Amino acid sequence: MTDVQAPSQPDVMPICGDDYPLTEKQQKLMALARQLGREKFAPRAAQLDRDAQFPFANYDDMRDSGLLALCVPEAHGGQGADYATYAMVSAEIGRYCGATALTFNMHVCTMLWSGLLSEDLEMTPEQRASHRQHQATHFARVVKDAAIYAQPFSEGGAAASGAQPFGTIAVKVDGGWKINGKKIFASLSDAADYFGVLCTEKKEGADLSRRDTLYLAIPRTAPGLTIEGDWDPLGMRATVSRNLIFKDVFVPDDAALMPQGLYFQAASRWPHMFMTLSPTYMGIAQAAYDFTLAYLRGEIPGTGPVKRRQFATKQIAVAEMFIKLEQTRNLFLRAIEDAKVDPSKSTRLRAYAAQYTIMENAQDIARLAIRTCGGQSMLKSLPLERLYRDARCGSLMLPWTAELCMDRIGREALYEPGEKDE
Ligand SMILES: Cc1cc2nc3c(=O)[nH]c(=O)nc-3n(C[C@H](O)[C@H](O)[C@H](O)COP(=O)(O)OP(=O)(O)OC[C@H]3O[C@@H](n4cnc5c(N)ncnc54)[C@H](O)[C@@H]3O)c2cc1C
Repeated sequence: MTDVQAPSQPDVMPICGDDYPLTEKQQKLMALARQLGREKFAPRAAQLDRDAQFPFANYDDMRDSGLLALCVPEAHGGQGADYATYAMVSAEIGRYCGATALTFNMHVCTMLWSGLLSEDLEMTPEQRASHRQHQATHFARVVKDAAIYAQPFSEGGAAASGAQPFGTIAVKVDGGWKINGKKIFASLSDAADYFGVLCTEKKEGADLSRRDTLYLAIPRTAPGLTIEGDWDPLGMRATVSRNLIFKDVFVPDDAALMPQGLYFQAASRWPHMFMTLSPTYMGIAQAAYDFTLAYLRGEIPGTGPVKRRQFATKQIAVAEMFIKLEQTRNLFLRAIEDAKVDPSKSTRLRAYAAQYTIMENAQDIARLAIRTCGGQSMLKSLPLERLYRDARCGSLMLPWTAELCMDRIGREALYEPGEKDE
């Protein structure tokens, strides 16, 4: 395990507030993320956004400091971070570069799902034994070779929302799987060494079923895999999320990130696994608020020394932003503490509410920040307009888009499992 060094320079307030109980390990990891974010990621963010280029240098820094192995268990040489620690570290990174935090999510959570989360799932002894071997392969790639994993699930149809089986198909062949299909919006498409793909096992004579979802790591170099399409979006431009085409791609059995059938169990029993994109946007919300305070105080380099804080309208706007930020932060902290297997109904509904609140409030806080700071604040020379564009992307992320969170809350609040109207 790389020993994480706490930074020596004066710090800014952690994303959880300065009065939240953190373990020593959490303090160190979050301080490290903040230091990398402030000193390295923030200065690079504007150019990467402008050019829609992947943040390779940020990943080098995360590799060198041990953060790439954040959720690899300590026994395998990683930092052994749990869900809440991941979420807070990711939010710290999101304050400085949204695209780095969002892609970090895809990489780190592949290890979290395949590692810590899968420990809670029911497996046969044979499944557990082969999962242990496969885990060791994936963890070693990250720890020893600094391999980067992506999570391309979306296909443009109803599968990523959980409404249908994935249209990317895997057929069992000798020693592994043959895969055909297409994924869209594959963040890290320029950078990942492995794509953690969800696909449906095609069983002889049977219809495709979500229960037969497989979670397989396909190497970037696999014959039959092509990466295609332009990437020129509104926000989160440095995620470089292009399309993947699989044509008779073979992967060996040890490509499995979870045993057969286990992804369906995880999605049903560990709902917080779908909340892992939200820390990025918690970080963006904090960044928009921090910028506003500094701007109104005349502290943003190149915009001072004019102070704008003396106007009552500005003070009210800051109060409005602070209230939204605190509502967001507190739901975020509660939901990441809640995350566990088989949560109660109220815990599950709170997770949807947290995801909705973080994604919607991040863009609202960024909107208020621009309105409050004024015209000069949205110039491309300042980070606020990027925060505003990046924030817009959060509520579009499947399977828990803002709409789908509302849909689930409404339905699950009104109907108990199995209940129907005539
Ligand atoms: C910057 C960025 C990076 C991304 N990176 C990744 C990635 O790495 N991996 C990945 O898998 N995906 C990624 N995505 C894709 C993302 O998760 C969504 O799949 C994508 O935004 C959906 O776009 P769409 O137009 O196909 O949505 P559609 O499927 O057309 O849905 C449009 C809207 O309809 C609603 N909707 C969809 N299905 C249902 C339903 N069954 N019931 C009710 N309402 C529904 C949702 O609110 C959704 O937002 C990324 C997206 C962005 C913007």
